Amino acid sequence: MKRILICGGAGYIGSHMAQWLAEHGHAVTVLDNFSTGHRGAVRWGDLIEADLLDPAALDRAFHGRSFDAVMHFCARSLVGESVAEPYAYYSNNVTGTLNLLEAMRRHNVRNLVFSSTAAVFGNPIADVINEAHPKAPINPYGASKLMAERFLADAAQAYGLRSVALRYFNAAGALPGHGIGEAHACETHLIPNVLRAALGQGPSLKIFGNDYDTADGTCVRDYVHVQDLARAHALALEFMDRNEGAHTFNLGNGQGFSVHDVIATAASVAGVAIPYEVAPRRAGDPARLVASSAKAREQLGWQPRWTELAPIIESAWHWHRDQPSWSPHHRQTDRPTQAA
Ligand code: UDP
Repeated sequence: MKRILICGGAGYIGSHMAQWLAEHGHAVTVLDNFSTGHRGAVRWGDLIEADLLDPAALDRAFHGRSFDAVMHFCARSLVGESVAEPYAYYSNNVTGTLNLLEAMRRHNVRNLVFSSTAAVFGNPIADVINEAHPKAPINPYGASKLMAERFLADAAQAYGLRSVALRYFNAAGALPGHGIGEAHACETHLIPNVLRAALGQGPSLKIFGNDYDTADGTCVRDYVHVQDLARAHALALEFMDRNEGAHTFNLGNGQGFSVHDVIATAASVAGVAIPYEVAPRRAGDPARLVASSAKAREQLGWQPRWTELAPIIESAWHWHRDQPSWSPHHRQTDRPTQAA
């Protein structure tokens, strides 16, 4: 049994982490400022309401509690928004992470699993991206995460912090049976937007650019189930028991799907046609991001269980169809009969 502080545990990936840890007998404490997370998603463990930009609140959070490790999911994480509001990204993701690391140092917590991202790589120069690929972020979101990764390397040298940075490719899916899934007040991600379009909810679906240098002209991404991401974090805890230093791993299924592939798969899962229109490219989007997770497989022993796109989308579809009352998209009245 480990005592884990999940910073950002009210959010999409953090709530799935809390579920996994609680199910496997660990003691969970969630810390969140509820800027984008949801109180209804905090279903496991204790809750501390605090902001990483408030060092005094962080001190109070650590004081009198003892944690074996911190998992750090607090971040602004939207590529397009980061281009429009870079200061908000550097403040939250860089200063917030620094404050958390400093609080951990003061309170002698020596293990961290950090949420990083494929956005640290920028425009890839390889079809499949491994950890050695050059890091050249093309948006403030990726730049802010790369800076935080650098903090971890420096902290390993200076203070002996053990850390694992997990670079997620595209987190997707849900655990509808546990009442958690992707629920953003302002949804920008592809799969939720496609499924909301299938339900006749939300604005009309837009494909952001069909003139990329890809097979069908739309961007290609590597979708990985959020429960597989949670399992990788748990394996990272065990890895840090065996290994000092700062480590990075790419997490994806190793298969690329275009925006058109996602829409076609979702249409078949939902059993409805999904209308869309083609819009201009979104700032900051690379054409193709596909992971090599060979290192995570070899060194963490990580083996994704959700390896096909259709079941990943199906789990998200069930979640979107049956939103719980805490979700910002909870609307019971407008479900199409096809979804029943
Ligand atoms: N995308 C799209 N329409 C949407 C949302 C996303 O065409 O409503 C595209 C987006 O431009 C990108 C891909 O889908 O090429 C995945 O975007 P998402 O925001 O889901 O994840 P990201 O790769 O930015 O983390």
